[in-house]
Amino acid sequence: MILGQEPILLTPGPLTTSPATKQAMLRDWGSWDASFNAITGSICKDLVDVVHGAGTHVCVPLQGSGTFSVEAAIANVVPRTGKVLVPQNGAYCQRILKILGYLGRAHVAIDMPEDQYPTGEMVEKALAADPSITHVAQVHCETGTGILNPLADIAAACARRKVGLIVDAMSSFGALEIDVSKYPVDAVVAASGKCIEGVPGMGFVIVKRDVLEKSQGNSHSLAMDLFDQWTYMQKTTQWRFTPPTHVVAAFRVALDQFLAEGGQPARGARYAKNCETLVEGMASLGFRPFLPKAIQAPVIVTFHAPGDPAYGFKDFYERVKARGYVLYPGKLTQVETFRVGCIGAIDANEMRNVVSAVSQTLADMGVRKMEPLKAAA
Ligand SMILES: *Cc1c(COP(=O)(O)O)cnc(C)c1O
Repeated sequence: MILGQEPILLTPGPLTTSPATKQAMLRDWGSWDASFNAITGSICKDLVDVVHGAGTHVCVPLQGSGTFSVEAAIANVVPRTGKVLVPQNGAYCQRILKILGYLGRAHVAIDMPEDQYPTGEMVEKALAADPSITHVAQVHCETGTGILNPLADIAAACARRKVGLIVDAMSSFGALEIDVSKYPVDAVVAASGKCIEGVPGMGFVIVKRDVLEKSQGNSHSLAMDLFDQWTYMQKTTQWRFTPPTHVVAAFRVALDQFLAEGGQPARGARYAKNCETLVEGMASLGFRPFLPKAIQAPVIVTFHAPGDPAYGFKDFYERVKARGYVLYPGKLTQVETFRVGCIGAIDANEMRNVVSAVSQTLADMGVRKMEPLKAAA
């Protein structure tokens, strides 16, 4: 396969990056080098600005995939005696609950079906019923389905009950509005390889400075200790341990393109157009999205699989890939689905092209019955 002709990733990270972002990885950097450390500093400043946190929040970058940063945020922000409420409607919410179990933090969930979101009112009621809860941890866009959870409403409920809020904004950061100057948020967590369109390898936590300053001793783990990472970086400008240098250099270039495009509003608008084009095109082939339009985030779309016996995801996936597009499996247990990402260095043309690749694939496979199978009881 020649460079530039690899299949397009329609997956929610890693995703398709631009040639300039890939190009930025062709140089090696020393981790002590002042120009490398200046890149880290400038990235942190720009990331804080994306969520309007200048003056109140600081950015702590962390090596690893996004989950490492979610775990670090919880371990640092929530004291060992704290208790966390998780409004739960999907796989990444469940991952937070699993992390809380590993960390030994007391926790409780509001369990919702995957096609509905927990409201601020529900969160407020749960907080009122259990005054021992100190924090809420929520997922902004639940990538398991693509549902958009109501961040501003939940943040307002947390503010009224005076509990902290940690937001897994992994798949929304940079694409959907997050404004920590409008509602209090202790920590916003995201990573390099999602809507800023960098490559995977580093996460970051945008954390309220006074919360971070009081967090010393909360972390059970040295590698995950954000307080330690931050104080070391303040002192030396360097990462504590080996940084993912190429990832950081590419992330800088990805952020430059993000800013040149017009920042979050423009990026969100491009993804919204991608999503709309995809859903319309797929509907013309007979595919139904799992979520109603009103609660669908323009990030990733879950589609019901066709009920035709000729359909199988693995075969479908391989054939669509041979036509140039990499899809994503579904993450639901009750119904057969697959997902298509709308994020990355792609535009509405790619979405039209993937729809035609899917159309040709269905014809090749002999899939005619598009009606999905009934959900397992
Ligand atoms: C991608 C993602 C993560 C992190 O997943 P990793 O595989 O660790 O990068 C966490 N939460 C959400 C909502 C995500 O979309």
